[in-house]
Amino acid sequence: MTEDVVTRIAPSPTGTMHIGTARTALFNWLYARGRGGRFLLRIEDTDRARSTPEATQAILDGMTWLGLDWDGDAVSQFERVPRHAEVAAQMLAGGTAYKCFSTQEEIQAFRDAAKAEGRSTLFLSPWRDVPESEHPDAPYAIRLKAPREGETVIEDAVQGRVTFRNDQLDDMVMLRSDGTPTYMLAVVVDDHDMGVTHAIRGDDHLNNAARQAQIYRAMGWAEPVWAHIPLIHGPDGKKLSKRHGATGVMEYAAMGIPAAAMRNYLARLGWSHGDDELFTDAQARDWFDLKGIGKSPARLDMKKLESVASWHIARMDDASLVAEIETYLALTGQPALSQAQKDTLTAAMYCLKERAKSLPDLLEKGQFSLVQRPVVPDGKAAGSLDAVSRGILGELTEHLQNASWTRDTLEAKLTATAEAHGLKFGQLAAPLRAALAGRSVSPSVYDMMLVLGREETVARLGEAAAPRD
Ligand code: GLU
Repeated sequence: MTEDVVTRIAPSPTGTMHIGTARTALFNWLYARGRGGRFLLRIEDTDRARSTPEATQAILDGMTWLGLDWDGDAVSQFERVPRHAEVAAQMLAGGTAYKCFSTQEEIQAFRDAAKAEGRSTLFLSPWRDVPESEHPDAPYAIRLKAPREGETVIEDAVQGRVTFRNDQLDDMVMLRSDGTPTYMLAVVVDDHDMGVTHAIRGDDHLNNAARQAQIYRAMGWAEPVWAHIPLIHGPDGKKLSKRHGATGVMEYAAMGIPAAAMRNYLARLGWSHGDDELFTDAQARDWFDLKGIGKSPARLDMKKLESVASWHIARMDDASLVAEIETYLALTGQPALSQAQKDTLTAAMYCLKERAKSLPDLLEKGQFSLVQRPVVPDGKAAGSLDAVSRGILGELTEHLQNASWTRDTLEAKLTATAEAHGLKFGQLAAPLRAALAGRSVSPSVYDMMLVLGREETVARLGEAAAPRD
């Protein structure tokens, strides 16, 4: 029953949200959202030293920026510690777990001896079959009474059948002698209680799946569908690290990659739907399936990310783009746009969207719609404002004063002015760009004039023709 799908992302707070975590979250989100299921967020905050409110907030911020909405409140794993202990006690009572009184020193001595004798160093607790009546009054850990023979088999939706020999898995500790649960127990109890049906996560957790499956089986609980996805690698095929560039999802936000583009790009990192590279959220939701996840690690490719961003910017509606820009400006500590700037930028969007690789790229193109008079030309643009071109701009100002503001009229006026001075149109365009945008690269002069309107255009040309200094 597809409506029963429940997925989750279970990040441990580390201070930033890694793009690998973001990709895993996205896969879980797409899987649930495409099937009318639920997508849950659990913060694995049992490591109290690392789990600061700021580190948790970094995860919430990453999820929010990426637009991955989760159902219900974020669950704190730490708050569920009593429940984890309760399950360990239940397993003890049911005989699938036992109290182990071995001290750290004894365990170490066991391992040293095993090593010296060339045996497996896997710890075999002497307490596994000791009856309660012979137990000392001493601290103990609760260990799983794991099967010693045979195999633990995981049917993984991505990796296929994965077999683990039970004689290579020890009786793992589930509850430490200080009463705190281990990660293995906590994940299983939480996933079970939260009704998780599909555990889609990085393949660095594949070995854990065997151990977690043993807990599920000992409890008689239904296991989720396991899907272990290959990690993201750098362009050189090595595990992604800082030296490859940005690894935190918010670094991409700060680069001005729209969230919609990031979702598209991340979806393609390890998953494919035929040859489709560029798609909308709705398509991704329709298409996403575990069958499309590859077995080999995807490589991060900034050029591709840029082209995905460009495609999305060109297609996004103006209001969404302005909203993305406002988020980008806030994230990078830049001043917010005034209402007037938003209005002009929105009006200009039609001539900015094509071929913009990122939001800052789009803002650079749209500079003319954001600057206020007097427009101060940058170095290169200033070079095209010599005395002759200023004279021509002055003349043009007069011609435009009463012109009807259509592309045809403007073309006729500008062409006539260029011809009158024996100039090619390009030679006139340079001082016009300098006057209107203060830049040597900008949208077409006609687009700028139409967006700015007559009054503002004439004022800018007039100021460039006769600067106040
Ligand atoms: N907390 C684990 C991590 O951040 C994920 C656990 C899981 O997905 O089962 O890698």
